[in-house]
Amino acid sequence: MRNVFRGFYLLLVCVFFTTSSFGQWFESKQGIMGTNIHVELWSESRATGEAATEAVMDEMRRIDRLMSPYKPTSELSKLNAEAAFGPVVVSKELFDLISLSIELSKETQGAFDITFASVGFLYNYRENKKPTQSSIRKLLSAIDYRHIQLTELTHSIFFAHENVKIDLGGIAKGHAIDNSIDILQKMGIKHALVTAGGDTRLLGNRLGKPWMVGIRDPRNKQKQAVVLPLVDIALSTSGDYERYFEENGKRYHHILSPKTGASAHEVQSVSIIGPKSTLNDALSTAVFVLGVQKGMDLLNRTPGYDGIVVDNSRKLHYSSALIE
Ligand code: ADP
Ligand code: MG
Repeated sequence: MRNVFRGFYLLLVCVFFTTSSFGQWFESKQGIMGTNIHVELWSESRATGEAATEAVMDEMRRIDRLMSPYKPTSELSKLNAEAAFGPVVVSKELFDLISLSIELSKETQGAFDITFASVGFLYNYRENKKPTQSSIRKLLSAIDYRHIQLTELTHSIFFAHENVKIDLGGIAKGHAIDNSIDILQKMGIKHALVTAGGDTRLLGNRLGKPWMVGIRDPRNKQKQAVVLPLVDIALSTSGDYERYFEENGKRYHHILSPKTGASAHEVQSVSIIGPKSTLNDALSTAVFVLGVQKGMDLLNRTPGYDGIVVDNSRKLHYSSALIE
């Protein structure tokens, strides 16, 4: 009996140390920005742990209010409504993200192009809606990042084509994650995972062990194609299974080729590993549009960023630094 009691006290002491003196894991899952947000972090203080998870959710909501194309009051919606009529002054944050997006268009031979939305807004994947060939043809010339004119001094933006619309869906989640990680670091957090849909960034390790992050099988939700042990890095996956519908055996999904205004069909999924979620997010979309050969060429000349591509015959391709 005494042994049982001793065991019980020992257990109590262990629970006390893992949950109190040495900290504990805090976790939160919420639906924001039209996707699933997941935060896990370790903190030695309950107050800090709870405040930190809430701070990430607040940041996600702030970015959504600023950059959602679906909220008529967002800064992005205001820009889309007015910038073809004259320069619109925007916040430094929106200006800088649009400016970076244009840089990325240049580096990806136009594969990543936020003006894809000039045609993209005609798709509704939930309602199985797609534009007709003739409406695509009418608006296709509006897809070109060169139509976006930036004035750094005043942070103003002008669209030099009347039908231009922009959408930051291929980069905003990454940006929100990087901001969130900065917030967590400022709060003293050293071990964390922040996920928004297919984008994840990790702070430190999972208390001495790596984080295990999966890349799902593009054709089977239940299966992982690859599971990677990762520490202090970020991973973004773009796939043709996130938002799509099928019609007459053809898959219509949310990553569009800026050249055609139609869904890109070069590959099934692309995962990018690199230090910043903002770049991972945009690069995963870009490589998806570019396909295996051009995509790998892009990654192999982008220091610090690597990729895994699942092609249309489900074969895996790795950028050169991953196989060296
Ligand atoms: P998600 O995590 O939402 O699946 P991805 O990183 O795979 O996002 O990017 C897809 C999103 O990027 C689309 O929903 C759309 O908003 C945007 N997008 C689609 N095609 C392009 C493109 N060619 N260039 C830039 N952004 C794009
Ligand atoms: Mg992306």
